[in-house]
Amino acid sequence: MKHRVVWALILLSLAPLAASAQEPFDVAAATDAYLSQLSPEQKASSDAYFEGGYWLILWVFLYGAVEMWLLLGLGWSARMRDLAERVTSKAPLRTALYAVQFVLLTAVLDFPLTWYTGFFREHQYELANQTFGPWFGQQMIGLGLGLVVVPLLLMALYGVFRRAPQTWWLWGSAVMMAFLVIGMLLAPVYISPLFNTYTPVERPDVRDPVLEMARANGVPVDNVYVFDASVQSTRISANVSGILGTMRVSLNDNLLNRTSVPEIKAVMGHELGHYVLNHAYEGLMFFTLVILGAFGFLRFTYDWALARWGDGWGVRGIADPAGLPLLILLMSIYGFALTPVLNTYIRVNEAEADIFGLNAAREPDGFATTALKLSEYRKLNPGPIEEFLFFDHPSGRARIQMAMQWKAEHLDEVDESGGAAE
Ligand SMILES: [Zn+2]
Repeated sequence: MKHRVVWALILLSLAPLAASAQEPFDVAAATDAYLSQLSPEQKASSDAYFEGGYWLILWVFLYGAVEMWLLLGLGWSARMRDLAERVTSKAPLRTALYAVQFVLLTAVLDFPLTWYTGFFREHQYELANQTFGPWFGQQMIGLGLGLVVVPLLLMALYGVFRRAPQTWWLWGSAVMMAFLVIGMLLAPVYISPLFNTYTPVERPDVRDPVLEMARANGVPVDNVYVFDASVQSTRISANVSGILGTMRVSLNDNLLNRTSVPEIKAVMGHELGHYVLNHAYEGLMFFTLVILGAFGFLRFTYDWALARWGDGWGVRGIADPAGLPLLILLMSIYGFALTPVLNTYIRVNEAEADIFGLNAAREPDGFATTALKLSEYRKLNPGPIEEFLFFDHPSGRARIQMAMQWKAEHLDEVDESGGAAE
């Protein structure tokens, strides 16, 4: 009797040793176990939604190209310019008047596509929460914003086009860059609040670990913001926005309400990564090159197209706002061709933020379950070429694998209790 108790005690004390001396953590098996949590229906819906997006890239490009071609070919663009010229003799005002007409007309012409991509399709996949009325109201806010920003941008662009007939493409790049910087600076303060309400996160169980993680990584934020994205959609997401003094870290209320604290930490670790790794400034430099490339492309193709079709369109030269549809058409060809390059640039940054987030949050399972939840709108397990061409974030499979690899190499540091939320 006594012996049995002793043996039981010995066995009990050895049990944890046996557990820790188990076979090494199998990264591939752990990754597959996560991937198989998605039901076949969930996977089918996720794949269909995301793969439909590949076709949309093409349709949106073609729709816009045909639209711009018609604005030129039917003489509508020239007519909008003529109207602006009858109203005023001041060149900047003429540009602004053309811009207002252009924004209104293209908003109407684009509406079927805007409705399909932004409303119908989102409801089809149960990603949207808004009924038509409020959705349309927000489209109108966007249109109002366009009616302010586009005339300003075009007045600046055509201002340099008029003054620099030879080097317009260089000055044009500079204007675009300036607007990009101003936009990044102002967006969190003046633009995002037009669409959503931002408030500081009150829950201490969420706010405190995130702020602790921010301080541990030298990120000078004193607040984490939550915004009411659930007004529009069911997607979970978070972001870093702004530059210089307007930089802030925000998470959306879907993330706050539908995920556990380890999952939120995993996501916010990723967002802090964007901040610490200076992705906003790196991105600015990268997009400077992209914009210079775009204007370099315009410099050659614009004159060529104008020499060929310009008379029929009634477009006089680079300084004529009636040529705007041609500028946009050529830019969209450049952008369409560059899609995989842009996606890859962003995806590489996102992968950097992922590994930063794993190290900062130390929540590989929270990270993996979040990657699973993101499959609601991003295909989980694409082929390598598919991922290269179309993914602007690492796929769920790549992310889960990265998290499991990290877990395998930090097994003694991971708090098992904080792991998978569901
Ligand atoms: Zn990111």
